[in-house]
Amino acid sequence: ILEARDLELSFGATPALRGAALQIKAGEVLAIMGPSGSGKSTLLHCLAGILVPSSGEVWFDGTRLDTLSEEKRSALRRDRFGFVFQFGQLVPELTAVENVALPLLLAGVRRAAAVKQAEPWFERLGLEGLGNRRSGELSGGQAQRVALARGLVTGPEVLFADEPTGALDSLTGEQVMDLLVDNAREHGTTVILVTHEARVAAYADREVVVRDGRVNSPVLAP
Ligand code: ATP
Ligand code: MG
Repeated sequence: ILEARDLELSFGATPALRGAALQIKAGEVLAIMGPSGSGKSTLLHCLAGILVPSSGEVWFDGTRLDTLSEEKRSALRRDRFGFVFQFGQLVPELTAVENVALPLLLAGVRRAAAVKQAEPWFERLGLEGLGNRRSGELSGGQAQRVALARGLVTGPEVLFADEPTGALDSLTGEQVMDLLVDNAREHGTTVILVTHEARVAAYADREVVVRDGRVNSPVLAP
């Protein structure tokens, strides 16, 4: 469903991607691992159409993303992708339910309908009774589950998650991963997960390792 071909991208003089190539099947849960600074987040951002590589191609479901206008890429991200990042990045002044409803509002869903669609996620993710709490007043694990709900509420075809458990202790991180993977599998969502934790990567169907801006399959233990 997603493919990166020979991606190159530098930030000034710093090369981030040097010929990265990757294919992801629909419904697959893929973990991207690798050392800090190896290019994992940059690769994720290219696959998601947030960044455009300086050379190479990114394909999503028959559409070439890297040559689309910013306007079309952002519409595609809004309509077909979901995102979860390390620190949740909730809007602290909004309530939890307003945060979850946000991507729906941006997609033009009316407020009452968006809130109605957001609400069932609270029960699904073990967040009963927290919908009207300001998100700045949630614990880290609660906030990350709200961020997960926000990533899934539009029913995305692909969920992009960059260190979704990075700010959590390991037990809370496992709870978030259980919910993420259960919900993705239930809906057939493709998941691309960046992590440096082997315990998190163990949830994936497949792991790849990024080193020096290239994608390698991990060497399998005998
Ligand atoms: P980490 O595990 O620490 O998150 P990463 O594998 O996600 O690392 P990237 O964030 O993709 O690594 O960065 C790859 C390289 O590009 C690094 O050398 C980084 O310093 C550089 N880089 C990334 N983003 C930027 C930016 N916005 N401006 C300048 N350099 C950047
Ligand atoms: Mg990163």
